[in-house]
Amino acid sequence: MISNADISETLSQRLSDSGLRSTPQREVVYSVLLKKRDHPTAEEVFARVKPEMPMISLATVYNCLETLVQCDLVRAVNFERGPTRYCPNLHPHAHFHDVETGATHDVDLPAGLLDQVKAILPEDFKASSVEIIFRGKESPKARGGEPSSI
Ligand SMILES: [Zn+2]
Repeated sequence: MISNADISETLSQRLSDSGLRSTPQREVVYSVLLKKRDHPTAEEVFARVKPEMPMISLATVYNCLETLVQCDLVRAVNFERGPTRYCPNLHPHAHFHDVETGATHDVDLPAGLLDQVKAILPEDFKASSVEIIFRGKESPKARGGEPSSI
């Protein structure tokens, strides 16, 4: 369980590493992402932040998300034709995207797999990141379970 104090500490550390300061808005946006790891869109984050911080605007939420992505605390995930989704899981992982429900799940990758994938590239290509996205359908049984279980 991650306490709010831990979130504050991680966040202010990361932000100050990037030359930024921690703000209540950034903290609440980050804590919302950590609380429910279902890869919400900015609008979904906004809806979850609102009860805690009624005065916050969607534009502010967008700005906070952008800052968190720049600080490498959050990954922006894009699927074609869909809005950007946000993921606070910083361990190397792939995404499984259910094309029917739109649900997105983290899939842990074995150690070294991303390096092996990068090694496929010809020497002239320098990859700064690799995205692995599975698309398909979950079995109905899995859909009824916890969002993170596959
Ligand atoms: Zn993820």
